[in-house]
Amino acid sequence: MMKVTNSLTRSLEELKPLENNEIRLYTCGPTVYNYAHIGNFRAYVFEDILRRTILFNGMKIRQVMNLTDVDDKTIRGANAAGIPLTEYTKKYKDAFFADLETLNIQKAEVYPAATDHIPEMIALVSKLVEKGIAYKSEDGSVYFSVRKFPGYGKLAHIDFDHQKTGARCLGDEYDKENVGDFALWKAWEESDGPVGWDSPWGRGRPGWHIECSAMSMKYLGETFDLHTGGIDNLFPHHENEIAQAEAATGKPFVSTWMHCAHLRVNGEKMSKSLGNFFTLRDLTEKGWTGREIRYVLTNAHYSQGLNFAFSALEDARKSLRRIDECTAKATEGEAPDWAKKHLDDFTAAVNDDLNTPRAYAALFGLVRDTNAHGGGPVLGVFRRMDEVLGVVFFGKSAEADVPAGVKALLDARAAARAAKNWAESDRLRNEIAALGWAVKDGKEGQSVSPLK
Ligand code: AMP
Ligand code: ZN
Repeated sequence: MMKVTNSLTRSLEELKPLENNEIRLYTCGPTVYNYAHIGNFRAYVFEDILRRTILFNGMKIRQVMNLTDVDDKTIRGANAAGIPLTEYTKKYKDAFFADLETLNIQKAEVYPAATDHIPEMIALVSKLVEKGIAYKSEDGSVYFSVRKFPGYGKLAHIDFDHQKTGARCLGDEYDKENVGDFALWKAWEESDGPVGWDSPWGRGRPGWHIECSAMSMKYLGETFDLHTGGIDNLFPHHENEIAQAEAATGKPFVSTWMHCAHLRVNGEKMSKSLGNFFTLRDLTEKGWTGREIRYVLTNAHYSQGLNFAFSALEDARKSLRRIDECTAKATEGEAPDWAKKHLDDFTAAVNDDLNTPRAYAALFGLVRDTNAHGGGPVLGVFRRMDEVLGVVFFGKSAEADVPAGVKALLDARAAARAAKNWAESDRLRNEIAALGWAVKDGKEGQSVSPLK
């Protein structure tokens, strides 16, 4: 049974699918105006561990991650470069997908881009206007009236009813009726240049929050299982997503919310605006591998702040070397009880709110015992653990991904050898070699590696 901490209830709850043994997961994705930094990747790696743990437990998954390709920053970037918005954002979309591969992050099922879903967003805003929950301001922007949605604040656990929300605001927010009201649609401004779409309220563009409500409901339904992001997304972004969706549909939007803590640098959040960030490329150019970076990002519990330091990458390099030396000695075959015990500990750890520090402790318990035994048929256990961690057989074609056809021949060969049918065993060895794999017979049974 897999348990996670739900930000909505602030308690540890079983995660089980609402329908069809499938978890429908929405993960807030990158704003594609620049290269993502490793703080952003902490969030995406956390979501990858979540995704893999769901699959590890035999559930199915449908994951959607949006690409924010229209907002102040993307518009500013495109206009400064004097190129169309789509051309400007394409470069960073491509970079993002390449970075996901570098970190061995599994692909989501859908990556919808905001600019491909403007009609869906306009439809959702129209619905809120029709219901009297949203209003148009003089300049042609549309705002969500937080007073009209009684549940506002339930995710952030803030009681807005007892806060002064009646005062009209000053300065550049004078168009709003209330301080807390947020833009669903932003009227076109001079600085938007060629970027804009026609709508019932005039030319403009969608607000950031409406993007996620519209696209999540399009691909996952009006009520779905799980929604995640970094802790900075919790308020106001996720609170606003709930308000927009639930005010429009009258149904619960999402059952479980999860948020990961920040990656910090010297105690401060790693962020573009503070300038204290490293992109993934900065680190790989310095000679660190995606595998080492993934190791560092997965090594802390997702709900705990993690301070970034180069010494952690050095430790990761050493730890991974220990793992590699151990898996090199490990063989195929039925796992001994001492290995199974570590797998049980591992399973309990990841199912206890994705406790990766404990999961790594189980992995290193397996390393220690395997070394003490001088090897052993434990590759299957490493592989199973790696379904979640994705660091053990990282980027290696070795035993990690022995094709099914080779596995079947290996099973047949094990049977032939058990029956002392050496001719058949040799024939199968050749057949396996013809598929590009070399078989080695050790005292723990057979193991394979790619020929080459
Ligand atoms: P953004 O592009 O700023 O919208 O961020 C994309 C994702 O990265 C969101 O889920 C953020 O919450 C997350 N994020 C941004 N900075 C950090 C950080 N320093 N540590 C962890 N997650 C972060
Ligand atoms: Zn979002």
